[in-house]
Amino acid sequence: MFNDEKLSRRSTLKIALSVIPMSIGGAALLNACGSESEGLDCTDVSGLSGSETATRTALEYVEASPHGEEKDCTNCNFYTGTATACGACTLIKGPINPKGYCKSWVVKA
Ligand code: SF4
Repeated sequence: MFNDEKLSRRSTLKIALSVIPMSIGGAALLNACGSESEGLDCTDVSGLSGSETATRTALEYVEASPHGEEKDCTNCNFYTGTATACGACTLIKGPINPKGYCKSWVVKA
């Protein structure tokens, strides 16, 4: 009986010691990755026509807003999509980064 209890405590301790580093490692990995939208690449304009690409350029679309979260596509009235994947814009064709920006930005109504 005593050995069973000791084994049980030992097993519990082993499990606890193996879970703690995994938790710390997971948190570190999430921090290294930053937010989910930071790793997005919404630059593939290969399916766009010349005029659609020209509009994108004319409106000075960029993948990362120079205004940060204060003014980015996620809080623009023309953005449709989520904050964690490439979305769309009713003014500009092609994939739109939720953290992107262009000079037609208007606060979401
Ligand atoms: S208008 Fe510009 S800022 Fe607004 S969603 Fe479209 S690309 Fe983003």
